[in-house]
Amino acid sequence: MPSDTAHPLQTGTTTPAQTQILNGRFDKLSADQTVDELIQAIRNGERGVLSTVNVAILMMMRSNPRLQRFVDTSRWTVADGQPLVWASHLWQQPLPERVAGIDLIDQLCARAVREDLGVYFLGAESSIVRSAVGVLQNRHRGLDVRGYADGYFGPEQAAARARAVAESRAEILFVAMGVPRQEYFIEEQWDNLGARIVIGVGGSFDVIAGRRKRAPAFVQRAGLEWAYRLIQEPRRLFSRYLVTNSQFLGLISWSAIAQVSRVRRATPRP
Ligand code: UDP
Repeated sequence: MPSDTAHPLQTGTTTPAQTQILNGRFDKLSADQTVDELIQAIRNGERGVLSTVNVAILMMMRSNPRLQRFVDTSRWTVADGQPLVWASHLWQQPLPERVAGIDLIDQLCARAVREDLGVYFLGAESSIVRSAVGVLQNRHRGLDVRGYADGYFGPEQAAARARAVAESRAEILFVAMGVPRQEYFIEEQWDNLGARIVIGVGGSFDVIAGRRKRAPAFVQRAGLEWAYRLIQEPRRLFSRYLVTNSQFLGLISWSAIAQVSRVRRATPRP
């Protein structure tokens, strides 16, 4: 979509406090606060996209202006990675914690049951999305799944897929088609989707369905989730992580040095 017709991926006015980390602006929200914000927006009759950004995506945004714009115009952006939370401390603008897309799926499904809201799952292979839905229905008894569909379709089918979501009247839509495919779909179909809250969740359905393993909690806390994924798919992911991690480290170090020298220059000598 050309840049001048980009949709602001939201309605509503409240904006939580934010922290800038390199080219990304992140909301200073804990996972619980994020869920509260989303539910409140639904209750207010508003709409919005939530972007979950990790280091690899933040670096991808630098070379993909369309993705950068998508994240910039999302209503909420949360840090889906421990290294981003650490980086936020360097600027003394700490983010409260990591907010992972895959955890949001569970937390939102739990709230959806309590608040009587419908959910829709779009993405992954059809057997995977079906099995992920089954797992979530087991975990969250009474979950109102208004529909689900696989993420393998051509551009000519995209509008019909989006309208199916709208017709289901689901309030919350999870799109798991990988980055940036899912963002392009959401952006192009925003007006057709109907759902109030739309979240891109990458490969999360594969993890929920048991096709891929998630890193253990201590590996996540150590900021090494990427290494765990790399071990599982070395051929596909080696160059991606080599490039994005070294770029991130370089940029963060450079910004930290620049900041220290700015502070020194601004401090009057005795
Ligand atoms: N996927 C999809 N449609 C596509 C390509 C991928 O729904 O046309 C799904 C894929 O099945 C997986 C998720 O998107 O569940 C993430 O894909 P992938 O692992 O390739 O992306 P990554 O997260 O590694 O960038």
